Amino acid sequence: MSEQTPEDGQERKQEKHKKAMEKQKTKVDANIEAASIERGVSILLTGNGKGKSSSAFGMIMRALGYGHKIGVVQFIKGQQLSGEELYLQQQCPQVDFYQMGTGFTWDTQDRESDIRAAQTTWAFVEPMLGNPEYQLIVLDELTYMLAYGYLDEADVIDTIKRRPIEQSVVITGRGGGSALREAMDTVSEVKEIKHAFKQGIKARQGVDY
Ligand code: ATP
Ligand code: MG
Repeated sequence: MSEQTPEDGQERKQEKHKKAMEKQKTKVDANIEAASIERGVSILLTGNGKGKSSSAFGMIMRALGYGHKIGVVQFIKGQQLSGEELYLQQQCPQVDFYQMGTGFTWDTQDRESDIRAAQTTWAFVEPMLGNPEYQLIVLDELTYMLAYGYLDEADVIDTIKRRPIEQSVVITGRGGGSALREAMDTVSEVKEIKHAFKQGIKARQGVDY
């Protein structure tokens, strides 16, 4: 019997890797083949880890690459301006950006005025969800409005379901009840493993806001 050399080991590894890749490709190709429905998708990005809003803004960048018309509505006003707000407002006329403004922040918590602000904001969202010109709509931090009962969940879900067929919608925020999860096509949960903030590192311009 001939001696095994380190090269033989490498070759076997290479062969095994190639086989695994081929198997994976067959699976992916079959899935691509099976997906035949063409329509916009509804996406919920939830969970307690960092990455929900920034993922939504990543999709905005993709859509911008194709010149799509986009609507962005933020249901919570941050304490400071955010990079996405600055950039989209200044550089992207094809993005309609709306922020709940003087309403809900983590500091105010004035129920009556929060409800009014949420409803005024929803009145801005509703026509967007009925307008086929918008290919992508991002409803950033919407889940809190449902959790606090500031917006009617059934009404929100119904409006999302009745949107134009080619339109995609992304909702972000922790929570998002079971009815919303059920209604959305894609639901991803960003899980916190660790966060810099808990090690005393300050929120970073251009990374966290
Ligand atoms: P991002 O906007 O960075 O994608 P997010 O949308 O997933 O974050 P939010 O709950 O909306 O998270 O919080 C917004 C801000 O809080 C961001 O500055 C983010 O870095 C920070 N943050 C998110 N998750 C955590 C966490 N688990 N602990 C502390 N801070 C967090
Ligand atoms: Mg967020």
